Amino acid sequence: MPANLPPANHPPERLDAFMARANAIYYATQDPFADFTTAPEISQMFGEILGLWAAVTWQLLGAPTPVSLAEAGPGRGTLMADALRAVRRTAPDFAAALRVHLIETSPRLKAAQAAQVPGAAWHDDLATLPAQPTILLANEFLDALPIRQFVRRGSRWTERFVAAGQWVEQPVEPGLAPSLVPQGRAAAEGDIVELNESARRFVATFSQRAALNPAVALLLDYGPERSAAGDSLQALARKRPTDPLRAAGSADLTAHVDFADLTGVARDRGAAVQGPVPQGEFLTALGLFRRAERLARDHPGDDLAAPVAAARRLADPDAMGHLFKAMAIASPGCPPLPGFPPP
Ligand code: SAH
Repeated sequence: MPANLPPANHPPERLDAFMARANAIYYATQDPFADFTTAPEISQMFGEILGLWAAVTWQLLGAPTPVSLAEAGPGRGTLMADALRAVRRTAPDFAAALRVHLIETSPRLKAAQAAQVPGAAWHDDLATLPAQPTILLANEFLDALPIRQFVRRGSRWTERFVAAGQWVEQPVEPGLAPSLVPQGRAAAEGDIVELNESARRFVATFSQRAALNPAVALLLDYGPERSAAGDSLQALARKRPTDPLRAAGSADLTAHVDFADLTGVARDRGAAVQGPVPQGEFLTALGLFRRAERLARDHPGDDLAAPVAAARRLADPDAMGHLFKAMAIASPGCPPLPGFPPP
């Protein structure tokens, strides 16, 4: 048994507490990129395109100065480094107006980010970002936040806990706010529904900030367009699925992002939502394949097929193009943003 799992006599731990603890250990002690690959690590085009997206978005917000270019869960800092390179080359006004703010809790990853993005400011969460216009990027951040899972049993719901590497179900605590209990959703016996309260809080906080200052968050993550029942908790170690309970702390634990649920949270706080659109459509609309072909042409010594193959991996529906989605949360009245179909 991995040393970080609670001992057998440990009281059952609610899934979100278990997942938060396991991922905190994981991100502080392991190299996540040995276990999974993310879009910015597949190709520099991903960060470059998002940098140009941010520059256009800044113009659409009225070019506010100063502006925060923020990222939540920046991993190795690759996305932000690629974005800044593209911004400096093509949007010097934006480059001059922005200051980079990174939201990261892992000391190990902060050190990696500092090497890639010198001069950034670090934060543990949204609360300490300056109260000023903000453009925030987050790729595969929300999927790492801890979820709760409820199981339909008869006409009631139980909640899943973890004890000594096994699932345990307990009655839903009395007085749990009705909005938390997924009563409204059609559910059959044994169905599992998930609730990501941390993601909800993140979106609610961002939406509240967006009411006070022009702000846009671009969230890229994996999950279905519509909320659906099902257990989406997954653990990856060395790029292979493994048992989320046994491998806790030594594997990356993630769950699908419920974009419909988060849309409701943002709108309840008065923010505007654009998307979600499948990542493939989003990146293709922003010129991913034109960029790949240009890269291939401009670097004839390199493997010609590599940029195009990377673009396909990011955008093809049977690779990352469909399950991954892009969604924007913006200040009320924000004009249509690049990559999103007009409302
Ligand atoms: N965006 C990067 C990394 C994704 S991995 C990429 O696309 O490659 C998830 C990232 O979120 C890691 O940087 C991890 O340390 C960070 N993270 C996870 N939980 C967090 C939390 N609660 N607060 C801040 N950062 C968190």
